[in-house]
Amino acid sequence: MPSAGLCAAGYHFNYLFGVHISVIAKVVERSRIRNHAVIARRAGAGCGVVLFSYFFVIINNKWYLMIQNNKSKTALNDKRIYIDFNASTPLKDEVKAAMIEDLEIFGNASSMHASGRLARARVEQAREAVAKLAGASPETIIFTSGGSESNNTVFQTMRSLASDAEGKPLGTGRVEFITTAIEHPCVLNSAMELKKHGYNVTFLPVDEFGRLRIADLEKALSEKTLFVSVMAANNEIGTVQDIKKIAKLVKSAGAFMHTDAVQAIGKIPVNADDWAVDYLSMSAHKIYGPKGVGALYVRKGSPLFPLIHGGHQEEGLRAGTYNNFGILGFGKAAQIAAQELEKYSGEISALRDLLRRGIEKNIPNIKINGHPTEVLPNTLNVSFPGAEGEAILLSLDMQGIEVSTGSACASGSLEPSHVLMATGVGPELAHGSIRFSLGWGITREDINYIVEILTPIIARLRAMSTLSVGA
Ligand code: PLP
Repeated sequence: MPSAGLCAAGYHFNYLFGVHISVIAKVVERSRIRNHAVIARRAGAGCGVVLFSYFFVIINNKWYLMIQNNKSKTALNDKRIYIDFNASTPLKDEVKAAMIEDLEIFGNASSMHASGRLARARVEQAREAVAKLAGASPETIIFTSGGSESNNTVFQTMRSLASDAEGKPLGTGRVEFITTAIEHPCVLNSAMELKKHGYNVTFLPVDEFGRLRIADLEKALSEKTLFVSVMAANNEIGTVQDIKKIAKLVKSAGAFMHTDAVQAIGKIPVNADDWAVDYLSMSAHKIYGPKGVGALYVRKGSPLFPLIHGGHQEEGLRAGTYNNFGILGFGKAAQIAAQELEKYSGEISALRDLLRRGIEKNIPNIKINGHPTEVLPNTLNVSFPGAEGEAILLSLDMQGIEVSTGSACASGSLEPSHVLMATGVGPELAHGSIRFSLGWGITREDINYIVEILTPIIARLRAMSTLSVGA
């Protein structure tokens, strides 16, 4: 499990007579991030009036002085621009309202009496909405606790299909697994777990834009291949794969095909039936639904073994009392996402392009990561040579702008992003990358403000850094 993403936390104490002290440092002394430290204090005096704040950050053994001018920031303190929608999304108002209403429905959705039937009816309504968004029929949808569980269930199923309890290959002789080097950690680590237990797992490389080369897949497939897992869209760089084409190839080789569509649903058209995949994973909290609920599409006739054993919920494929409150929220979010898909694509990609143009125009020597056209409409990943991603992130955060960086603190490790590294971006550039992921609520003014704030931050960090600002 990644260690806590908590690198620094701010605690502000207002003392009597206005001595204002703030300790922003809470250094996480975990061995994996030991050379990260934030040493911070806030300057200022008198009746709670603070003139400026500063703190020092050590990132990769380099010191950064972070200065925040509170005078100019006062108005901005109230406004936070969240532009990290690939990490999670806020609940849509309609979703929130539907969930609040559903709080009254307490029956167990497996009970036969009226309260149970009412709860069950809501679950089935949600199943229909989720199925529609995924291009599937309701009976192929199983509710889970999220994308991670959906992905793990498929990997465990494949492991059971590959060998018996002693690890001896089962009848088919198909014992090999294929995935890509840029998958989400819940897929990568599931695959690593198989590898650890002696299974043959191939991690296919990707091209400079993050696309899987079909020729590489063709070469890797054999009569021993049991299972292929390729994500529909990448969470860090937004690159979208041609899942229909990939699935066709995999199926013609006689293997099972899974796609992690957690970042794809609600952002681009997804059609599980048409793509002809066996399994497709989804998560509610990426589409303005609640956290802790997701779904797995299982093609009719494709095998699935439960990860969680217990009662007979979900045809015995996923035990546990229905999280009908969460499932209903997921259903409502899916219904809205399906209705708004076209609008989302047009409006959000226009804002994303505005951000890209603004960065390109104002900040020299940058690199845009990901595919130029086959990319999620909301994602922009940029490397800023000569500036550390975390220093950029913290500087932006101090100005009320919330973004993500692929490496270090966020993931609890000092390793540069495995996704960027797989696209051939070196460790230095990978460490200096920021993911902007847009969503509903972001305005043109927000984008202009981000560019206005980001430009001097990059100039300052580059000037401070001892890294060379080479192309
Ligand atoms: N797959 C991808 C591509 C993701 O981006 C995420 C979450 O960030 C997951 C899987 C995990 O989903 P969940 O948070 O619902 O477990």
